[in-house]
Order: sequence, then structure tokens, then C-alpha cells
Amino acid sequence: MISLEGATFDYGRTRALAPTTTRFDAGSLVALMGPNGSGKTTLLKLLGGLLRPTAGSVRTPADFTVAHVDQHQHQHRWMPLTVAEVLRMSQYGSRPFPWPLSKDQKVRIAEAAERLEVTELTKRSFSELSGGQRQRVLIADAVATGAQCLLLDEPITGLDLPSQENILQVLGAERDAGRLVVLSTHHLDEARRCERVVLLNGEIVADGAPDQTLTAENLADTFGARVIGEVGERTIVLDDHGHGSHQHT
Ligand code: ADP
Ligand code: MG
Repeated sequence: MISLEGATFDYGRTRALAPTTTRFDAGSLVALMGPNGSGKTTLLKLLGGLLRPTAGSVRTPADFTVAHVDQHQHQHRWMPLTVAEVLRMSQYGSRPFPWPLSKDQKVRIAEAAERLEVTELTKRSFSELSGGQRQRVLIADAVATGAQCLLLDEPITGLDLPSQENILQVLGAERDAGRLVVLSTHHLDEARRCERVVLLNGEIVADGAPDQTLTAENLADTFGARVIGEVGERTIVLDDHGHGSHQHT
């Protein structure tokens, strides 16, 4: 569905992604996992066509549709919009003013809002929501677009646990409905919820089922000194900014 052949990305003289050849198929839920600066955001932007590879190619089918949920939790905080208005934006597509929404479009928004548990929030101001609520609205937006592919940059990092759970369940259901879902994370427990994990560190270090990829050796290769130790089946990985450690079983 998305195929990369020798896809490479350089920001000026900084190589963010070494030549990469792989593919991402419909009906799969893939985690891109790696430390800060490992190229997760760059690869997601290449997959979504927001960046063009500086060498090699990224190919998608002609009618391919993508919804992208950006990394920053504080995005759009300035927007003087209600949740209902933010959700409406999912139906803009390429037409600037698709008023009024069709019945189908309204149903699509209502269903997505229900699944992300934001129906009760529609009259609230988007900027006043908590991080978890805001992210659920943005993911409802992405789901309501009906895009074939959802690309999500650290979609649940730092959110409250119920929001994390809700989002992961919805993303799993989107996968089951035949969509390609690719998310990035630096947490082992999030990566383990996906059937495929691509370990990144400027290049693909390992790629496959979580049991095969999330080994102590691969994690050490990916996170380097940040993997500070193992106790039994536990690997302790320092967080993205090195400010503390998380334990994962
Ligand atoms: P991640 O999302 O895993 O943290 P990124 O894809 O954001 O990684 O970054 C990969 C590499 O590219 C890093 O070395 C980062 O510093 C560099 N980089 C990212 N964005 C830019 C940019 N706009 N200009 C220059 N270098 C960048
Ligand atoms: Mg990033």
C-alpha cells in the first residue's frame, strides 16, 4: 500500500533517514519505535507525502487517502473553535466550504465522536480541553475522514490511561476495518500492542512482530546507552529526554 525503495531523507547536512526499503500494507497496525531524533516523525511525514524523499522513492496507489495526526499535544490551542467545529473540519476534504454537511457526513462525524468518547464535549471550546480529550477529538477527526491510512505521531504519549486505552482500541478497530495505521512511540508497552514494530535509529534496526523485534539486543542497538538495565523480563528504558526512567514488563 505504501512502498519505500531506498527512501532517504536529509535535512540539509543532517541525515534523518538512511536509505530504507520496506512496505506498509492495508489492514495492519504498525509501531515506529525509537528514541528522540531517530527519524520517527520524518518517516511518518514521508509516508504521508508531507515530505519528499531526498533520494529513493515512496510510492502509494493513485487514489490513496491519508489522515495525519501531528505530534504536538499543544497544537491548535489557539483555535477559537468548538469541538463540533473541529470535527466538521474532517469533512472539508479538498473543497474549502462544503456547507451544509450531508446526512452521511454528519453520521460519520457522530460515529467517530461516539467511538472516541467525545460526544459530550461537542459544545466545549477545543482549546479548553485536557490533553487526552484534545487528542481524542483530533483522532475522531482523522477517523471521520474515512482515509485509507492513519498516520499518528506519538498519539498516546503522555495521555491519561483511559484515553490511551480508548485510542488504542479504536486504532485496532480501524486496522480490522482494513486501514493501514502507523503510529510512532518511544514506549515499549505501546509498541507491544501493534502486530508489527519497526525499530528506528536513523535506519531500520529491526522490523517484525514485537516478540522478534523488542529483544534486549535490538533495544540496546536502538536506544544505546538509554537502555540502562534489565531485571528478569524487564527492560528499563530512559525516557525521550533522559529525565527519568520508565519500567516496562
Ligand atoms: P523523532 O521523531 O524520532 O524524534 P525526527 O524525525 O524528528 O526524529 O528527527 C530525525 C533527525 O532529523 C534528528 O537528528 C533531528 O534533529 C533532525 N531534524 C528533524 N527535523 C529537522 C529540521 N526541521 N531541520 C533540521 N534537522 C531536523
Ligand atoms: Mg518525532
